[in-house]
Amino acid sequence: MQLKLTTAMLCISLWQVAAAAVAPQLKLDEYYSYEGMRDYLAELARVYGERVTLRSAGLSHEQRMLQTITISNGDGRKDKPVIFMIAAEHAREWLTPVAALYAIEQLVVNFEQNAQLLLDHDWLIMPLTNPDGYTYSREVNARWRNTRSPNGNGCYGTNLNRNYDIAWGKAEGYPELQDPCSEHYAGASPFSEAESRAVRDIMLELQLTEREFMFLTLHSRHQSFFYPWTYKTELAPNAALLKKVATYAVDALHAATGCNYTEEQPSVNADPFGGTSMDYAQELGFKLSYTFELTGWSGKEYVDFWPPTRLLKQLAAESWIGIRALAEGAEKFVPAQSDSLVKIFKILLLLVSMTLFSS
Ligand SMILES: [Zn+2]
Repeated sequence: MQLKLTTAMLCISLWQVAAAAVAPQLKLDEYYSYEGMRDYLAELARVYGERVTLRSAGLSHEQRMLQTITISNGDGRKDKPVIFMIAAEHAREWLTPVAALYAIEQLVVNFEQNAQLLLDHDWLIMPLTNPDGYTYSREVNARWRNTRSPNGNGCYGTNLNRNYDIAWGKAEGYPELQDPCSEHYAGASPFSEAESRAVRDIMLELQLTEREFMFLTLHSRHQSFFYPWTYKTELAPNAALLKKVATYAVDALHAATGCNYTEEQPSVNADPFGGTSMDYAQELGFKLSYTFELTGWSGKEYVDFWPPTRLLKQLAAESWIGIRALAEGAEKFVPAQSDSLVKIFKILLLLVSMTLFSS
């Protein structure tokens, strides 16, 4: 009897080891450190190597790796349009990397339920865009927002989401963008920060290979979907489409959770300012570009930037409903044939100019 029990227990523990090797468990009962996120992603890539690729997009100011994960459905197609999502540009918005990791888990581990989202698009995700600031926020000052590069006079950090080369430094009503000691500081120059340069280089690579489809940056806690522009009050040329897809996500969230998110062009309701990643992606030609402001409200209590860990699973799942709905809305409303029509037009234009040139 004793022997049987031991054997049974051994079987269970071996089975558990095998299961753990198949599906690394995403922890949602605590916040990950920078190192913890790297370990989780490495384990994911080890188990799901046929659908997952990890890359370093460069190093942060304090030499932490800016890691990306590319997720495909493994069909071998290299030309799919890409949904590029980043999180934690702002260090203190701790829910955003949790939401990004949760999205990664849904796309990789729960692939069967989400296969449609990977049929015609690859996903490229940088879950921790500002690892230095995030680490400082966890270990020293929870309210920390910026990078950790020095500005002189004992002041540190640039606001990554003011540092992009799109109307950089434009700050009607926000003189703090020029203040090296402010959490709004736009930096010494456009792309002064290693972290924004890394994001830019990914965007440019996608643009070069004509795979720039949707850009999405996760922030908190405005409970909104923002779409361009931030730096001016004019409508974007694709404003109707941007609004339609965002509304689709707002409706999906309301139907699933009862929560009221909004969709808006931020410069309409507040003073415009320059240098955001969303506007930069829009200017580069991404078909859709959004800032998804996650919630600071649990339904019962205000949780600010740092929800208690008992709520992480609930809020990450809620965030995923919004992210998934944006992707579904994009698939539904962005005309699929426009790409090939544009390509045909470009080829025709090239042929005409070659004919004119040779004659
Ligand atoms: Zn933010």
